[in-house]
Amino acid sequence: MDILVLNSGSSSLKYQYLNSVTGEVYAKGLIERIGIEGSNIAHNTKDYKTQIERDLPSHKEAVELLFEVLLDEEHGIIKDIDEIKAVGHRVVHGGPIVFPTLVDDKVIDTLEYAKRFAPLHNPGAIAGILGVEEVAPGKPNVIVVDTGFHADIPDENSIYAIPYKYYEEDAIKRYGAHGISHKYITMKTAEHLGKDVEDVNVITVHLGNGASITAVKNGKSYDTSMGLTPLEGLVMGTRSGDIDPAVVFTLGKLHNLSYDDMDTLLNKQSGLLGVSGVSSDMRDVEKAANEGNERAQLALKMFYNRVKKYIGSYMALLGKVDAISFAGGIGENSYFTRANILDGLENLGIIYDKSLNDGAREEKEITGKGSKVKVFITPTNEELMIARETQNIVENL
Ligand code: ADP
Repeated sequence: MDILVLNSGSSSLKYQYLNSVTGEVYAKGLIERIGIEGSNIAHNTKDYKTQIERDLPSHKEAVELLFEVLLDEEHGIIKDIDEIKAVGHRVVHGGPIVFPTLVDDKVIDTLEYAKRFAPLHNPGAIAGILGVEEVAPGKPNVIVVDTGFHADIPDENSIYAIPYKYYEEDAIKRYGAHGISHKYITMKTAEHLGKDVEDVNVITVHLGNGASITAVKNGKSYDTSMGLTPLEGLVMGTRSGDIDPAVVFTLGKLHNLSYDDMDTLLNKQSGLLGVSGVSSDMRDVEKAANEGNERAQLALKMFYNRVKKYIGSYMALLGKVDAISFAGGIGENSYFTRANILDGLENLGIIYDKSLNDGAREEKEITGKGSKVKVFITPTNEELMIARETQNIVENL
């Protein structure tokens, strides 16, 4: 089934038009600077590439432009908008919605409510859905939520040790994120292992600008490093990950910082960027570290050790682990990062093969001799996962 997948941010819209069965990607691209001067689309098909600058005051105009390039007489890949069977939208936080769901007014209201948990992400997703509803009325819109896969996490791993009433009254708990990716990686890893997904225990390590790690027990999320919001857990490009919550009120009092200031500090100014002072981008930090920049070296060590700590704790939580799978821009491409995380884990039964790991960027097993736990590079494919979930919903309409 031919599905358009949208990943809408507050000022951006990433898209893929693909076949949900074969995975063939007909077109993909990125619209940037929506609502800001200099808005543009970078659009790619198999044999055509274009970049168009146009004023795009809102997501509606962005969606209009997207349909325009898809329908373009000369270089378009569809003749009629009906060829797009449905639109699948990535939503970071579904609040109480956990399963892929056809959008109606009630769904939009729920996503509005869930904005409190993902103020950076959900408004863009809602704007993207409303944009499609305006430009292509009647086209089925399906949301696939990143928190969905983690809805199975048991209470003992998802409820915070704060007064229970905040869970009951305000729904404060660990929702996790990157669930679409963790689910995809889990399914692929089960395939590699030649087992049914419900028979595998896996640690899925998604390392991109945002980074998270999940303990998967019998194919279901059992614990994950991101929490109420995508701020908790690993050291990320600009996010701190785990810190003592007292840092918030101590720094707040010392520097007279508001909650919004602390939000910016921890979400946008921390992580690799905050420690290294160089960049939030792993390639830049690795380069600076190689050139002798000590703060970049420190940031990298912090990044590796945080992942190591989580792997160790998830080994303890799961008891038996079949495999560890690496994904995301860093997890797939930086063999240096994988090596630094995996070095020293031999006593936990995790051994990787250095020669298989070096330089590897593709889907590959990198398990070493004598390892009890298999190690894989499993490139993620969130768009395909969203397209497949969207197809499942639309088929049953
Ligand atoms: P996002 O979370 O935005 O989807 P990605 O999964 O695309 O992010 O990952 C982006 C990160 O991957 C950046 O930190 C980038 O530096 C890193 N990355 C990409 N290629 C490499 C590489 N060859 N070596 C090291 N890091 C890489």
